[in-house]
Amino acid sequence: MSADTQSNVPAPIAPEAYPAGDPAEVREHQERIRALAAEKNALILAHNYQLPAVQDVAHFTGDSLGLSVQAQEAEQSRIVFCGVHFMAESAKILNPDKTVLLPSLAAGCSLADSITAESLVSWKERYPDHAVVTYVNSTASVKALSDICCTSANAVSVVRSLDSDKILFTPDRNLGAWVRRQVPEKDVVIYDGACPTHDNLRGANLDEVQGEYPEAIVIAHPECREDVLQLADEVCSTTGMFDAVRRHPEASTFLIATEWAHVDKLQKEFPEKTFVVADGCIGCRLHCPYMKMIGLEQVVRSLEEDIFEVTIRPEDQDGARASLERMLATPRD
Ligand code: SF4
Repeated sequence: MSADTQSNVPAPIAPEAYPAGDPAEVREHQERIRALAAEKNALILAHNYQLPAVQDVAHFTGDSLGLSVQAQEAEQSRIVFCGVHFMAESAKILNPDKTVLLPSLAAGCSLADSITAESLVSWKERYPDHAVVTYVNSTASVKALSDICCTSANAVSVVRSLDSDKILFTPDRNLGAWVRRQVPEKDVVIYDGACPTHDNLRGANLDEVQGEYPEAIVIAHPECREDVLQLADEVCSTTGMFDAVRRHPEASTFLIATEWAHVDKLQKEFPEKTFVVADGCIGCRLHCPYMKMIGLEQVVRSLEEDIFEVTIRPEDQDGARASLERMLATPRD
C-alpha cells in the first residue's frame, strides 16, 4: 500500500468506543427502522463487519458475494446498504432501476481507493496478455476495466475458471498471494494494495494468543498476511467461517482472524462455543473504522430523507455490470 493510502486510514478506535447503547433507545431506533423500511418498500442489507445493532435490524446480513446476490434478487424498490461505498455501488450496478442508499458518506475503503482507473490502465499496458481479476473491494470505474470480479469467497474459483493462464490480480496483495498459492499453475501478478484492518495483524500477534488458547482452531480471512495464514487451520471468507466452525464439532474454542464484529456474529450463531478475536487485544488491530461509520441513527435518517443516493457513471455501468455478473456466475471456492 502506498504512503498516500495509509494516510487516508482513520485513526484506530477501540471497539469499546462503540457501546451497545441504551437498550430502550436501541429498540426504539430498530422499531423505527423496521416501520420505515416497510413504509418505503426498502430492503436493508448489512455486511458482517457492521455494528451488531445494525446487523440485527437488517433483512439480510452477509459477505460481499452474499449481499450482491441479495441485491440482485431484491423485489424492493429501495436498497439501504449498510456497508461501505464500493458495496453500495455494486448493488446499484446490479440494480440500476432501484434507489440504492448508503447511510453515511464517510463509509469508504482505503483498499478500494488504492487503485484508480488510470493506474489500472497503465498496469494493463505493461501486461497486455493478462486477464484482469478484480476483487469486489474496488470502485465501479476499476470494475468496468476488469475482465471479471471476485470476492474472498470465490477468488480461487474465479482464477481457475479463466481460459487465460496469465492473470493480473487487484487490488489486495494478501488475497492475491493466497490465490497464487492455490493456483500455482497460473502466472498471477499481484497489485500492491492491502486491507489495513487485516494487514495489521502479524503472525507474532496470533502466535501469542495461540499460547493462551493452545487447543483453539484458528480461522483466518484471506486478506490476512501470509505469516498469519500459515498458522491457520482454515482460511475462508466471513460467510465460509460458519461452515468452517461446523467442520470442527469437537472444538470448543476458535481464534478468528477477521474484523471483530464478525466474531460477535459467530458467537451469537454458536453460543455453546467460545470465539476470540485473534489479535489479542479484542479488536484493536482487527477493527475497520470505515465499517463503523453507520449506526442506527444514520439508518433512520437514510430512510427518512432518502440519503445518500449512490450513482454510477454511465460510462462505467455496462463494463462493471459484466465483470460482476461473471463473478456471480462462478461458484464459491
Ligand atoms: Fe476496506 Fe478492509 Fe474495511 Fe473491508 S475491512 S472495508 S477491505 S478497510
